[in-house]
Amino acid sequence: MSAPLGGGTESWVEGAGGGHPFGIDSLAWGAATLPGGHEPRLVARIGDLALDLAPATESLAPDLAPLVGGSSLNRLLAEPAQTWHEVRARIADWLSERRHRAAVEPHLVPVGDLRLHLPIEVADYVDFYASEHHATNAGRLFRPGGDPLPAAWKHLPIGYHGRAGTVVVSGTPVRRPRGLRRGSDGEITYGASERLDVEVEVGFVLGSPTVAGEPVPLEQAEDHLFGVCLVNDWSARDIQAFEYVPLGPFLGKSFATSVSPWVVPFEALARARVAPPPRDVPLAAYLDDSRSAPGALDLELSLRLQGTELSRPPFAAMYWTPLQLVTHLTASGATIRAGDLIASGTVSGPQPDQLGCLLELTRGGSEPLELPDGSRRGYLEDGDTVVISGRVPGRDGRPELSLGEVSGTVLAAG
Ligand code: CA
Repeated sequence: MSAPLGGGTESWVEGAGGGHPFGIDSLAWGAATLPGGHEPRLVARIGDLALDLAPATESLAPDLAPLVGGSSLNRLLAEPAQTWHEVRARIADWLSERRHRAAVEPHLVPVGDLRLHLPIEVADYVDFYASEHHATNAGRLFRPGGDPLPAAWKHLPIGYHGRAGTVVVSGTPVRRPRGLRRGSDGEITYGASERLDVEVEVGFVLGSPTVAGEPVPLEQAEDHLFGVCLVNDWSARDIQAFEYVPLGPFLGKSFATSVSPWVVPFEALARARVAPPPRDVPLAAYLDDSRSAPGALDLELSLRLQGTELSRPPFAAMYWTPLQLVTHLTASGATIRAGDLIASGTVSGPQPDQLGCLLELTRGGSEPLELPDGSRRGYLEDGDTVVISGRVPGRDGRPELSLGEVSGTVLAAG
């Protein structure tokens, strides 16, 4: 659970105390090019400012400088979780104790002046399928008449290995993919996807590498969960539907996956921990969380298309927890590498306004949505901009924490 931060919930940075959604209680990590700079550098967000970590650390804690001196989080991710917590606590101390102000303040930069980059060099990327509501809805649409949930679904978190090299940071345009798909006339042709979709997901940045053949027990999964971001798993439904039987997603998913630029430390989300939904079948011992501390996260997500909110998927409704995803990933003996990214799978809740993709919202395109300008969408059109945002709702007198947002605009296939 959360390690205490040095200065509590106050910061000498104006407006950046515990009341700010990106304040001292969060200290989200990012990678950014600074004004006049050329190379991405690691930064820690504090309210509406970001701390340039390399020079601040050189002067205040030279022993830590190698961990935060690069252009991504990967060096830090190669360390054990205890080191992550220590570095974060030190940064919190600098930003909360006034005696450090003179040394730190010159290295604060307005967030609006930053050009944000992917904060990790993505090692392996895995996408799960952890929402029962989404899996059921998608199963009905892709396999009408069959069992909506695959036989294994409630026994293990189903996932697949995705393509790390096409993970892009928020704001990167996404070109409409091409592929083989079956048209309405039954003919199979190669061309631009006509059913381009989005998937609202939550991503988890992993670190503290493991050794092959040594699975991570559930009670140690948290030691590999560095932070949380938002993910848009762009999906070409026509390409996907044709290619994925019997093996699963390939080119229908691999062309682009967008992530939000700020990685919120997993330990900052301790307040969001809640119990997962009741389990319908007994779980194998390695996945059984019935006697564990709550492992689900209560995050509120939002999906907007052309500025119009289409849905508000609730992450607390996910059947499988992030801890179970990490444990299952390693259950075969597969390793975790520094910079691994796992995504939750589309987040959908039980209500019609809680669905996390157009496939569900428009019932496979058959019930198009109408936007305020009168235009209709079954799937995405070229020029469409999609924004996914997320937050930890405020409660018990504690203000909300923000996960920021991930955006992307569709370019024509060209
Ligand atoms: Ca997905």
